[in-house]
Amino acid sequence: MSSVSESEISDQLRNVVGDSYLLTSKSAKIEDFKKDMGDFESAPLLVVQPDSAQQVSRILKILNTHKVAVVARGAGTSLTGATSTFGGVVIDFSKRMNRILKIDITNWYVHCEAGVVVDDLNQELEKHGFFFPPDPASTPWCTVGGVVAEDSGGMRTFRYGTVKNWVLALNVVLADGTMIRIGEPLPKNRVGYDLVHLICGSEGTLALITEAWLKIMPLPGRTGSSSVKKFMIFFSNWNDAVSSIVAMRSSGIQPNLLEFMSKEAMTAVNQAFDTQIPEHQAILFMESPFEMVAKIIEICNANHSVDAYVGKDPKDEERLYSARALLLLGIKTLGSGVYNEDIVVPLDKLGEYLDFVKLTAKKYGLQIPTAGHAGDGNVHPTIVFDAESNESREKAKEAFADLINEAVQMGGSVTGEHGVGVQKLEFANRQLLERNGPKAIDLMREIKRLWDPNNILNPGKFVPRETTAP
Ligand SMILES: Cc1cc2nc3c(=O)[nH]c(=O)nc-3n(C[C@H](O)[C@H](O)[C@H](O)COP(=O)(O)OP(=O)(O)OC[C@H]3O[C@@H](n4cnc5c(N)ncnc54)[C@H](O)[C@@H]3O)c2cc1C
Repeated sequence: MSSVSESEISDQLRNVVGDSYLLTSKSAKIEDFKKDMGDFESAPLLVVQPDSAQQVSRILKILNTHKVAVVARGAGTSLTGATSTFGGVVIDFSKRMNRILKIDITNWYVHCEAGVVVDDLNQELEKHGFFFPPDPASTPWCTVGGVVAEDSGGMRTFRYGTVKNWVLALNVVLADGTMIRIGEPLPKNRVGYDLVHLICGSEGTLALITEAWLKIMPLPGRTGSSSVKKFMIFFSNWNDAVSSIVAMRSSGIQPNLLEFMSKEAMTAVNQAFDTQIPEHQAILFMESPFEMVAKIIEICNANHSVDAYVGKDPKDEERLYSARALLLLGIKTLGSGVYNEDIVVPLDKLGEYLDFVKLTAKKYGLQIPTAGHAGDGNVHPTIVFDAESNESREKAKEAFADLINEAVQMGGSVTGEHGVGVQKLEFANRQLLERNGPKAIDLMREIKRLWDPNNILNPGKFVPRETTAP
């Protein structure tokens, strides 16, 4: 930060957004911006709540001139400390930049502002018989800007891919306040380097998203195509569950959803939300076209499943879905602290990895309920610890590192969807260095320098560390 005082910056920002939309340390509301949902905590210097891209541009011009750190924020549901402020200014997109600008059912896209909540978007799209498929379990809160910046995944990733597969174009504001449009709201576009996909997953470190053009799809079943069913299949061990997944894949069967949960995870969610799901050692939750259900059950039976339950009606199916979607919140009730991982392993190593999670829980004497996206090999071991006890926290940290290191050794990745933030920076650095090498890291650092020469956009996160001494 240059020698300018906090009050001078406040005055300049107040001129842009007005008094009601500038929160200072004196405002009680600033408390809401101290934490993300992973409980990473740091107080912001100020919070600004702009109403337009023009205001975002003016804000960035001021902050770039004074070299003040800026953290874009949607709903703050990040689990990795990606919205930690380290004393910087927060730009809150959720308060006023939450308008849906156009739903185009001929060209199959929606154009909206960054602060639109994903569930709100889908409610509007549903009125037209369409939907935006990516579905992180945080859709009741998370915003379009947040899911694009995190390239979020979810239960439907197996079938539809992560958010980046659904982004056609973006309006962004650069660190110096310049406003640009990147990409085109067209099904195909081969012009220029693909800047849209550089921004997807960049965690607010390259540019701030103000508007997005997102692809949409007709709702399944709308055009007389087969209706879908949600169901669960139960196993007495991971080995049988994973063998069933492998058998399904080898037979070319691709359900829309293919999720797994451990008994510990299911017990936690049943207790917290009364979802009343049978608690077997390993559980698969799926959605598939109706005519595929019997074949899937047959394959699972051949691999020693112990029971199956098909949702009776839409309400009952919603109960099954919410039991999976609410898992993290259920697990959070088990202890005062949790570390949530989102490791990826090659699918053929999934069973071996899940056994390793069990061994790790035993080694450290910790509960590690586990769930994940079986179709993507994306595993969420969630380490429960006593936040008041240093010993318990240290054990949890060691378990966290063991689980990541094992996944990377198996040829996996430290994160499949939650991103790097501050939580996984060291691990991500190591993975990049070992797998991609110093030149790839240098290129990434050059990209950051080019887009944000003063390093004001979400500094200290995501961007890999230098590999050579300066
Ligand atoms: C219960 C629960 C379940 C979850 N399930 C999933 C899941 O299934 N899959 C998954 O991928 N994630 C999941 N998450 C993590 C999280 O919800 C996602 O990362 C989500 O995309 C964050 O959206 P947000 O609006 O809350 O963004 P925030 O948390 O506010 O911000 C996240 C990052 O995006 C940046 N950002 C936000 N808005 C902008 C913008 N306009 N321009 C530029 N950068 C911006 C921020 O600076 C930050 O780096 C879950 C979280 C919770 C609490």
